Amino acid sequence: MKHIDLPRRNLLKGMGAGSLALAAAGCGSTDPTVAESGAHYVMLFDQSKCVGCGRCKEACNKANHLPEGVARLTLERQSDREPGAVCPTCGKTECNCQRKYVRVSCQQCQNAPCVMVCPTGAAYRDPKTGIVTMDADKCAGCKYCIAACPYKVRYINEETDVADNCDFCLHSKLAKGELPGCVSQCKFKALVFGDANDPDSYVSKLLAVKNTSRIKPHLGTEPSLHYIAITKPEV
Ligand code: SF4
Ligand code: SF4
Ligand code: SF4
Repeated sequence: MKHIDLPRRNLLKGMGAGSLALAAAGCGSTDPTVAESGAHYVMLFDQSKCVGCGRCKEACNKANHLPEGVARLTLERQSDREPGAVCPTCGKTECNCQRKYVRVSCQQCQNAPCVMVCPTGAAYRDPKTGIVTMDADKCAGCKYCIAACPYKVRYINEETDVADNCDFCLHSKLAKGELPGCVSQCKFKALVFGDANDPDSYVSKLLAVKNTSRIKPHLGTEPSLHYIAITKPEV
């Protein structure tokens, strides 16, 4: 499996820079990353296939019974053009040509600052699967985890006052032997999910041959979300 730290100028935009200092200064707890199952569940987002339809987000909200106004994932629209610049395809300054989107969601860090700072154990790593998830009953609503997340993808569910993150649908889908809601509902096959430690899995095979990148790998968080970015041909 390749872990390539490519300079994705726009891919990273919007996933605000955070500091791991809080994590380091947190409870002093560790975050063991080896799952009892031996699996390492990962997701691959292929920007070249995503059309920004939002079905993934709808499926997520439905599968995980999220209230209006919150989301475990968002789609960020990106453009290589400077604001007001003329589109090289249609010649207009406002158009839908060359649209591209990036999935913004929990990166399922293997060294997860949110888990390390949580004082109650509410943000935890499921020992069997290795997936970062929540025990809602333990959450004190202190937001330490939100402050510690360098990807700014955690939020408080205001209906329950509990912090939340994309947990690959651990409780809502994987527990029933189903794929994550966003993956199964993407008609354009922009999302692939599976065990990167299984050499026969489709996701392993894709990671072996595709040019993929991860967001802010230099932070040492070891994200489990991989991206295939749209690249322009060399001229
Ligand atoms: S990206 Fe996910 S696992 Fe990583 S720190 Fe943020 S909420 Fe935790
Ligand atoms: S908000 Fe909840 S999950 Fe986050 S650190 Fe506080 S107790 Fe833990
Ligand atoms: S894996 Fe599940 S929780 Fe995560 S974004 Fe997809 S549907 Fe939502």
